Amino acid sequence: MSAVLPTKSEELVSYNPATGDEVGRVAVTSPDGVVGAVARAREAFQSWRKTTFNERKRLVMAAREVILADIDGIAKLISAESGKPFGEAISMEIAPVLDLMQYFARSAEKLLKPHKIGIGLYALLGRSSKIVYHPLGVVGIIPAWNYPFSIPLGEAAMALMAGNTVVIKPSELTPMVGLKIGEIFEKAGFPADCVQIISGAGETGAALVEAAPQKIMFTGSVATGKKIAAAAAKNLTSCVFELGGKDPMIVFEDANLELAASAAVWGSFCNSGQSCSSVERLYVHESVADKLTKLIVEKTRELKQGVGTREDVSIGAMSSERQIEIVEDHVADFVASGAKIEIGGVRSPALGRPSAGHEPPKGGTQNLFFEPTVITSVNNDMRAMREETFGPTLPIATFSTEQGAIRLANDSEFGLTASVWTRDYARGRRVAEQIEAGSVCVNEVLYTHGIGQTPWGGFKNSGRGRTHGTEGLMELVQPQHIHTNRLAILPDAWWMPYSSNAVETFRDMARKFASGSLLKTTALLPQLAKRIRELIRKRS
Ligand code: NAD
Repeated sequence: MSAVLPTKSEELVSYNPATGDEVGRVAVTSPDGVVGAVARAREAFQSWRKTTFNERKRLVMAAREVILADIDGIAKLISAESGKPFGEAISMEIAPVLDLMQYFARSAEKLLKPHKIGIGLYALLGRSSKIVYHPLGVVGIIPAWNYPFSIPLGEAAMALMAGNTVVIKPSELTPMVGLKIGEIFEKAGFPADCVQIISGAGETGAALVEAAPQKIMFTGSVATGKKIAAAAAKNLTSCVFELGGKDPMIVFEDANLELAASAAVWGSFCNSGQSCSSVERLYVHESVADKLTKLIVEKTRELKQGVGTREDVSIGAMSSERQIEIVEDHVADFVASGAKIEIGGVRSPALGRPSAGHEPPKGGTQNLFFEPTVITSVNNDMRAMREETFGPTLPIATFSTEQGAIRLANDSEFGLTASVWTRDYARGRRVAEQIEAGSVCVNEVLYTHGIGQTPWGGFKNSGRGRTHGTEGLMELVQPQHIHTNRLAILPDAWWMPYSSNAVETFRDMARKFASGSLLKTTALLPQLAKRIRELIRKRS
């Protein structure tokens, strides 16, 4: 179990994006190794599925204790491997996943309890229906690098509580955090092969999909999501897709601007803007745009940027050269299209360092710190307002009417989260319901992924299916309908052989029984009795 490295074909070396230092290295799991891991997970499923909810709860709660005993060590590893501030590793990864784990450990049994469902007039025929939830089997988890701890760990805990076994393929940028997850489950005492970690890049993820687990939980880009959907189709493997975002924040003229400004700064710059639910577009009422912008720029100026493992740092390094180049490209697009940079807009000049041997540009200066950037005079026609940036940029546009704000917010291929800021709660909720996004906050921003009790997922190209909440748990089980006839002494009216009398009965059933009305159905009884007599006569 955990950290399974069946065949060492090549190594994945992990570097700290802020310093270039090596964080660790791990052997890439070969394609055969991936097949073997899934086979062992299937085997382990046969006994894990029979464990009681109490036993699963005990182990998941034990895994929480393992995490609690090493909070700082885990946070340091997350920070070193992803570049994010140490504090954020605790506040945005460790704390929320601990909460999710205790919630599903304690609630899964209740949420998955077999229950009766109403079947309307069929109940009058002595029938009853019950739903029973069965685990799926092996759940393959393929996460991104931006929340390398909380996303795969939370999904794994939910899958295990539902009775599944798990194979995780962490992002190639954060393999050591992935191994740490395996170690946590191992130390907690989970049976062998219930949780396995395989290591590698896209090919290893593709091999996991190919190995046909019962479910794939994927977090990443739209482009990769489409590839996985196509590959999963071969085996009809069902997938949940948590994809990109271009999340809007709408600030009305009556909002608490001080609060909205702080929220915008946190919502767009935490994790250097590398959150799927980052504020990537801010729409403010034109009457308060100058005031809000001034507040945001002042608050941005106060932020300390540096190596994330230092506790007083608010903005760390970005994850990779590839990612920072996208940010530069978008900032250049804004400028070329006539937007104005209010603050930031470049790699932080003070934080450059000689490039480590493995990094581009070889022998030159490496700098993965992008200054938090506020941009005004933007509009939705600009390319950078349409594509996901995934960096510390906050473009601000204005609107004049409520409907105009909603139109601007919905003018995107994405629909993950959104926020609405107003002191008028009725307006807040009215606007929220018109926004095409999986989660919409009123006077809050970004953090609802941290509420494990609520469903998480996107509209439009932001995803399919849900993680978290009851809806997320339902993705990890298959419902079975048990239907019982307690009056199994007479044939059903719709059985064979058919006759004119049968057809007359079926017509009546369509008109009366299928109306759902007891009164109308009562009128069907003589015809029904005639038909049943006919069937009994033919039988004898
Ligand atoms: P990515 O699509 O490049 O990679 C994601 C994962 O897929 C990685 O583990 C990668 O190795 C794997 N992968 C790549 N090709 C594969 C293939 N052909 N088959 C199987 N697996 C493959 O994404 P990324 O750059 O790691 O993450 C950034 C993206 O993730 C952003 O778009 C962001 O919005 C999104 N994201 C979404 C959510 C959400 O909840 N909706 C959360 C976090 C990140």
